[in-house]
Amino acid sequence: MLKVLRRIVQEVSSAPNLRDALDIATQRIKDAISAEACSIFLVDEERGEYVLLATEGLNKNLINKARLKFGEGLIGLVGEREEPINLDDAPTHPRFRYYPDIGEEHYHAFLGVPVIHRRQLLGVLFVQQREPRKFDESEEAFLVTLSVQLATAIAHAQAAGVLWDLSDRTVVAKTFSGLPGAPGVAIGTAVIVYPLADLEAVPDRKITNIEEELRFFEEAIAITREDIKLLAKSLAVNLPRDEQGIFDAYLRILESPSLSEKVKHEIKQGTWAQAALKKAIKQYVLQFEAMDDPYLRERAADFRDLGQRILAHLQSTDPKATASYPKNTILVGEEVTPSALARVPEEQLVGLVSAKGSNNSHVSILARAMGIPTVMGVNNLPVAKLEDKELIIDGYYGQVYVAPSHTVREEFERLAREEKELDHELEALRDLPAETLDGFSLSLFINTGLIADLGRSLGVGAEGVGLYRTEVPFMVRDRFPSEDEQRIIYKQLLHAFSPRPVMMRTLDIGGDKELPYFPVSERNPFLGWRGIRVTLDHPEIFLVQIRAMLRASQDLENLQIMLPMVSSIAEVEEAQRLITQAYSELMEEGEHIRMPSIGVMVEVPSAVYQARELAKRVDFLSVGSNDLIQYLLAVDRNNVRVANLYDGLHPAVLRALIQVVEGAHQEGKDVSICGELAGDPVAVILLLAMGFDTLSMSATRLPRMKWVIRKFTMARAIKLLEEVLLMDDPIEIRCHLELALEEAGLGGLIRAGK
Ligand code: PEP
Ligand code: MG
Repeated sequence: MLKVLRRIVQEVSSAPNLRDALDIATQRIKDAISAEACSIFLVDEERGEYVLLATEGLNKNLINKARLKFGEGLIGLVGEREEPINLDDAPTHPRFRYYPDIGEEHYHAFLGVPVIHRRQLLGVLFVQQREPRKFDESEEAFLVTLSVQLATAIAHAQAAGVLWDLSDRTVVAKTFSGLPGAPGVAIGTAVIVYPLADLEAVPDRKITNIEEELRFFEEAIAITREDIKLLAKSLAVNLPRDEQGIFDAYLRILESPSLSEKVKHEIKQGTWAQAALKKAIKQYVLQFEAMDDPYLRERAADFRDLGQRILAHLQSTDPKATASYPKNTILVGEEVTPSALARVPEEQLVGLVSAKGSNNSHVSILARAMGIPTVMGVNNLPVAKLEDKELIIDGYYGQVYVAPSHTVREEFERLAREEKELDHELEALRDLPAETLDGFSLSLFINTGLIADLGRSLGVGAEGVGLYRTEVPFMVRDRFPSEDEQRIIYKQLLHAFSPRPVMMRTLDIGGDKELPYFPVSERNPFLGWRGIRVTLDHPEIFLVQIRAMLRASQDLENLQIMLPMVSSIAEVEEAQRLITQAYSELMEEGEHIRMPSIGVMVEVPSAVYQARELAKRVDFLSVGSNDLIQYLLAVDRNNVRVANLYDGLHPAVLRALIQVVEGAHQEGKDVSICGELAGDPVAVILLLAMGFDTLSMSATRLPRMKWVIRKFTMARAIKLLEEVLLMDDPIEIRCHLELALEEAGLGGLIRAGK
């Protein structure tokens, strides 16, 4: 059974589209279970109905036509109960409903299973048989297993909007969900960036000059042929005769009309040569992979290799292979890299979408610093199909709208306009203090990782830097930066902000932050070698960085050093010892430097429980709420699947924050918060009430948070904190606080401020 199952799953997942996938699934399941009919009804949410999308054994003319209301018939029952229903004589069941002309009058046995993806019912898959009998347990388990696999394929297709194309309905707008990467709204045209020489990554593109495209292709074939001949010749001496046969095979494929004809046929339909080649090669690969003979199956790899070779030549000769950027470019890619971002002229770039990566990816940090609305980690994004499409990016909620309807577009245009107006109004707050209506004030700092960000950061009236992510300059190099290289970068920042304080965090790599020249492979990197754990194990890296920071601070006196991912007192003591060592060495070398204050980041639960003990030993604490939330709630901060569970307003998080503030203050030390939570307007009311001395956030968030603070009294904030501490549900807490924002005249922040 397992072999059959694997085979079906492989065939289904390599089907070119959902229609074929469902057809293959019904056929194969029917044969595997020895049933006489197998069919799939999918949910049409909009109409509150199930619609027949594939069948083997029932009337195929009713595909896309046979519809059942939710709750109707046995299909409705399976959907309602969300569990398998196995009946030996379905027509006698009280919920059986006869569907005219579908041809099920002769069937008695019925086994139906729900198709569910991430708690959402997508449809019902069922098999039928004439003879009254109960399907056995193994058949039931088989159908359930298959339906789970099918669910993923269907959900992907649904996300890509192809599903209702199948059922004769057109999709008005397609929406994809990812993670908010950088806040803001953007409307523009998709430009696909893709790695070269990767056939899979080639986007679909339409062309009008067919003759030219055919010529490109023929030239690429001719050059590839010459290449292979040369390669064969150069290897002829060392390669055994048998192995040389591979080149002959390659040449035969290149010279055979079938591959060329397939590609040319596609080109003549208006597809550019690269995508036409991709399609043809894919067909061959699938064909060979499905063969029983292991030798022939291996030939699939030859086609793939040959495809890559032809593609490389196409890409080197075709001027269309290098992207051109329209006025409102939205960069889209499977994995957009910082260098791809850097290639777009800044005035043309309005948004960014990356199918892979998280809001911690370097490209996302960079986009935030540049103020480019960004959505990351959009799992189902059909990247190759988006070229030239109009997109709307909602960087607040991590949504991407493809070919939006007029109404959606208008709504976002209004939002973008309001945002601009708000930014403009908020400029007036630049030089005013972050002070409540009843005279309590706190400091607003910014988070940064880029020197390029300095102008923007200074422009918003920040009172200091609450987090400088030093790993960013480490990430853009191909080796560790030298002490002097680091000193120059750090000096620029300290100088620009002087006399305002700058909290520099020591190198925080590991987790999802990897240096290209220092790869670390771990099963569970977030619970592994991260932050201070790495640098304490490598004092040579830590000491160089500390020396660079100290030397950069000469004559400036605004450096503060912050230690990331601390989970025990011993780590702090060891880091302090190394910092003192670096300091003493520099003093011995004749430098005159003031000993900086040292702080600890509270990012893991153990640090919450030891906040007071930590505070006793250092000068300040700073809560890294991004990590603290993930470790407290056991929710990966970058995993889209559990993103709905990642919530900074969770009562457990709020209580932890209070405990940290109390711990620091009991020791007379300042406490700040530098995670994204400090840039969330509803959270800011609570952070104010908890008594945080400093809130640190990205520069683009700062004016909005200052606005919130200036519109509230401390008394009101404390009352709200007391109220929400009685609530159990983060959603209820958010609603309560949103209402308070609304009442304070800050309703505009609820949408644009998230
Ligand atoms: C945090 O964890 O909240 C934090 C500020 O650090 P980073 O996001 O860089 O891990
Ligand atoms: Mg962190």
